[in-house]
Amino acid sequence: MARRRLESRGGLLADIQTAILTEPLDSLFHITEELGRGKFAVVKKCVEKATGKEFAAKFVRKRRRGRDCRADVIHELAVLEAACCNSRVINLHAAYENEHDIILLLEYAAGGEIFDHCVSDELLSESQIVRLIRQILEGVHLLHQSNIVHLDLKPQNILLTSLSPVGDIKIVDFGLARRLGTVGELREIVGTPEYVAPEILNYEPITTASDLWSVGVITYMLITGESPFAGEDKQQTFLNVSQVNVDYSREAFTRVSELAVHFIRKLLVKTPEDRPSAADCLSHPWLWQQYPGAELSPPAVPRVPRERSGGAKWASAPEDPED
Ligand code: ADP
Ligand code: MG
Repeated sequence: MARRRLESRGGLLADIQTAILTEPLDSLFHITEELGRGKFAVVKKCVEKATGKEFAAKFVRKRRRGRDCRADVIHELAVLEAACCNSRVINLHAAYENEHDIILLLEYAAGGEIFDHCVSDELLSESQIVRLIRQILEGVHLLHQSNIVHLDLKPQNILLTSLSPVGDIKIVDFGLARRLGTVGELREIVGTPEYVAPEILNYEPITTASDLWSVGVITYMLITGESPFAGEDKQQTFLNVSQVNVDYSREAFTRVSELAVHFIRKLLVKTPEDRPSAADCLSHPWLWQQYPGAELSPPAVPRVPRERSGGAKWASAPEDPED
């Protein structure tokens, strides 16, 4: 499959439709607890005074290390706009600006990060994991169809609409996302080494396939509760990623079907061109097994018939008795 590479301009978007409001956020919203934070942003819950509706306000710093980074924040806003029809992406409600920050007023995802389900004593069942991975792939597929790569997919950036019962996923944090172009390419060291693909660490061209690697890492973590490439230090992690050092013999894999391991093995491959696309993945038999007590909800993206997606793609999949 031909994959588009990033434009030489760096794939940054500058055009936005959303009006950036300048009235103080706290005149319209009660700003309550902190929901999370990263290097340049803090996210706080807020409640609209007029309606009682809950939102998440992401305060993104405009100046970073003494540099004006307003254009980067506008880019993040523009990507959210471009993905506004994608139900697996967090919805942008409005944008504000003060002296220091641009504030992205986002739909509130009440269920927190799927990361919490990767480090919990009680891991999710296989059928729940399959449901979440399907939703992540639907979201990623739609992003890739719009030529957007996320480049920072990790369990901290996949949120849930509710905690109990486990809700639907929402992809957040488009600070590192890029628009793919037809000419030029982008090589950047971005993302968190534990979760990013070898081509990114090796400063090789970035394509949509880089996101699929991260989907493999997320799947591994939901099943085992362990990060597949995390080493003692950054250097060890880099080495583990570039050598694709993955332990498939963990005890936790005995609790899931062989198809789950087959799925991860297809994604965690060094050569980006050899990884399946998000659409390919959506036809993997692991995602369409019947699980006892699990209802199969219709996909947001139509299932690609096996013949067309190349039944051969999954020809080496272990036999699935119920498929
Ligand atoms: P950063 O770019 O700093 O990583 P994120 O957009 O990833 O910022 O937000 C940081 C954290 O804040 C997330 O990992 C999550 O825990 C929380 N968060 C972000 N957006 C929302 C939201 N819409 N609803 C609930 N929590 C959120
Ligand atoms: Mg983040």
